[in-house]
Amino acid sequence: MPRYDYKCEVCGVIFEARHGFDDPPPPCPNGHTSVHRLITSAPRVLKGMAAAVSKHASKEELQAKWSEETPKLRKKLADKLGEDAVSKVPSLNTDSKK
Ligand SMILES: [Zn+2]
Repeated sequence: MPRYDYKCEVCGVIFEARHGFDDPPPPCPNGHTSVHRLITSAPRVLKGMAAAVSKHASKEELQAKWSEETPKLRKKLADKLGEDAVSKVPSLNTDSKK
């Protein structure tokens, strides 16, 4: 079974789950079902970023940080994996979410 990283859209927690690619996403550890899968090569960056800001930052600050970092991360991944792969990741395409 492949392992995927997910980010909860409600509480922002990032967690790993092991299941098939086409299975529905699992709920977050806090029971929320609004989660989205993170691209496979991004988790370490995202986790580090989330860990760095989640302890002290408010939700607004976290979102600001997120939208500040996401384009950089997105570009990095686009260089590495190609635009096609990156465009499929909702968390890296902020304009498609709002
Ligand atoms: Zn949650």
